Amino acid sequence: MKAEIITIGDELLIGQTIDTNSAWIGWELSSAGFDVRRRTSIHDNRDEILNALSEAAERKPELVIITGGLGPTSDDITKQTLCEFFNTKLVPDREVLEMIEKMLRRRNFPMNENNRRQAEVPESCRVLPNAAGTAPGMWFEKDGTIFISMPGVPGEMKYIMQEHVLPDIKKRFRSQVIIHKNIMTYGMPEARLAEILEQFEAELPENIKLAYLPSFGVIKLRLTGTAGTLNEIEPLIGAQTSKLYNIIPDLIFGEDEQTPEMAVGQLLKIKKLTLSLAESCTGGFLAHRITSVAGSSEYFAGSLVAYSNNVKTGILGIDPAILASDGAVSSRVAAGMAEGARKLFKTDLGLATTGIAGPSGGSADKPVGMVWIAVSSDSGTITEKHIFSTDRIANITRFSLAAMNLLRLQIINR
Ligand code: AMP
Ligand code: MG
Repeated sequence: MKAEIITIGDELLIGQTIDTNSAWIGWELSSAGFDVRRRTSIHDNRDEILNALSEAAERKPELVIITGGLGPTSDDITKQTLCEFFNTKLVPDREVLEMIEKMLRRRNFPMNENNRRQAEVPESCRVLPNAAGTAPGMWFEKDGTIFISMPGVPGEMKYIMQEHVLPDIKKRFRSQVIIHKNIMTYGMPEARLAEILEQFEAELPENIKLAYLPSFGVIKLRLTGTAGTLNEIEPLIGAQTSKLYNIIPDLIFGEDEQTPEMAVGQLLKIKKLTLSLAESCTGGFLAHRITSVAGSSEYFAGSLVAYSNNVKTGILGIDPAILASDGAVSSRVAAGMAEGARKLFKTDLGLATTGIAGPSGGSADKPVGMVWIAVSSDSGTITEKHIFSTDRIANITRFSLAAMNLLRLQIINR
């Protein structure tokens, strides 16, 4: 079953609005067993809309989903253009008119000509009521293809999809089952990981595909399985997942939507360990990530943002002589910070970051993007050095991920 998505709106093309509708719809259709083949984004322009519709129709997909251009103002021309394409005309729809009247009354707005125009629908379509807004969705069929047009406002589109479109198409197309399983990894660049997993990939069954989805050093390995039923595909995906755990045990920190901070939190909870932080270059971002997990108070004591040398020496007890000889971005200072945090907050583990986030402040032996991280526990203190990019915000994210990963490995190898 093939599907296509067409999003209409000038703002999408000039980068003013990100086309989140396509992403959401693509995911939902794929979960419903559709093979989403194409996304097209076009201008609010009659010819472009007609072209996009006829080009999509020529490829004969079972389904075309369209969003945008249904507003009450003159720049929104999708409805009139759909009438041209489907050879029909606009007629007032009593139910839509009543719904708009009710909504306007509730908000205390008078009905105007624009609202009355919104209550007009193409005669040949099936109206999909929109309780989240004023413009309804429209369902057309032509030569074996279903075309569904919805407003661009994401909340309204989602309402119509969930309330009307998805239930109807699931009934209509007794579909295949497609499931995705995400295995979250950290610590190995994509090219190297692909090399390690070359044989695994070659041995995958015909109906399971592997995708690499990298972001800041976290690589999501997505297994996608297709079969007639869930019972058929779930054990196959389960077996491949176990195989991955055998090949790259240390790289995997979680599954599906699990973040590194969730993974670390879970480990600390299971092992009944407490954590504190001393953050220089991450400036509290690490604490923010750790505390974004519900229930983190069970294991997280606090963080000291030790940005200046005075705080590093005065509160964390770093020897000024070490700061002078090694510099703030060094293994010994990172270690001292982790140990200092552990003592100050009286926790089982101390985690520290000290680095150069950039874009300036680097030198030949300490370039921008360099970070020292340290984990201190009753079994000693370890430090690790990384060099990342020159982008400040990206670096802060990367430093935090590297720190959480070092912590995770320390906990599991204790
Ligand atoms: P429209 O139905 O064209 O009047 O769209 C109304 C509003 O919805 C626009 O101003 C955008 O902010 C938003 N919007 C339209 N299309 C999309 C899209 N594909 N993804 C996310 N937001 C959108
Ligand atoms: Mg628009």
